[in-house]
Amino acid sequence: MKDHIKDSIPKLLLPLETYQKIMSYALATENEIGGFADVVWDKETRKLIAGDVYLPNQEVTYGTVEFSEEEFSRFMGTLIKKGHTQLPQLWWHSHGDMSTFFSGTDQDTIEWLENSSFIVALCVNRKQKMHASLTIFNPIRLQIEPLEIEVGSLKVEVTKTVKDEVNKKITEKKWGYGKNYNDWWGDEWRKDNGVYRLPNPAGKGQINMFPRSTKKKHKLIRRKGLYLAWDNKRDDYVYKDKHDNIWLDPDLRRKEFSDL
Ligand SMILES: [Zn+2]
Repeated sequence: MKDHIKDSIPKLLLPLETYQKIMSYALATENEIGGFADVVWDKETRKLIAGDVYLPNQEVTYGTVEFSEEEFSRFMGTLIKKGHTQLPQLWWHSHGDMSTFFSGTDQDTIEWLENSSFIVALCVNRKQKMHASLTIFNPIRLQIEPLEIEVGSLKVEVTKTVKDEVNKKITEKKWGYGKNYNDWWGDEWRKDNGVYRLPNPAGKGQINMFPRSTKKKHKLIRRKGLYLAWDNKRDDYVYKDKHDNIWLDPDLRRKEFSDL
C-alpha cells in the first residue's frame, strides 16, 4: 500500500488511562463484560482518540454480553442527564479468556448501535489482546477491520503545535548561565590548565574565569596572591594579580566584556 494512503487510514488511540480502565474491567471478571467509551475524531493526527470509559448494568454469561433495550436506554438517559451531548461511540467488550475477534452477535450489536456517524468496536481479552473495527454509517457504509490500535504511553511527544508555540513565546537570553563558559561568551574563551581565559580588550593582562569549585577558587587566590580591586571599567570588584590579570567568578553576574 502506498505510504500516503496507509497514513490516511484512521487509527484508534487509547490513552493510557482509558486502556488501563478497560483492561481492569476485563481482568476483574472471568465472564464477558462490556461497555462504552467516549471517542473523538482528531483531524490533525487522523486518530480516533478514546476518553472516559463507562460500564452500564448488564446481563452476562460466560460467552455473551447483553444490554437489554431497557438497560441501554436507562444508561443513555443517565449520560444525557450528566450533560453529554454526544453518546459514547466506542463500544468495548471483553471475551474473557477467549481470543479477540468479532462474532456474528458482535456484528449484530454494531448494527444495533447504528447512528448518524460511526461506531468504534473494541474487543479485548484477559491476556490484554485487542482487536478493533471502525464502522462508518454515513454518508456511505464502510467498515475498517482490523482498525489499528495505539496505546498511549508516558513518552512525551513534541508536536509541531507545541514547537511553534515555544518558538513564538520563548526568546533566547543572550547573557546568562550555561553549562560551560562558551555558552555565555561565545568561543573566545580558551581553556588553559582548567582555567578559562579571554584576552582583555583593555589591553592589560588577561581575563580569567575562576573554576566553579569554591575550594579550587580559594586555592588559586592563595597561590597567585590575588587581591580584590575596584574595576572602573566594569564598575565592579574583581580579583587581580600583580600582572594586571583579572579574575572573574562564574557564579556572579557579569557585565558584558564589550564594556571593557
Ligand atoms: Zn464478542
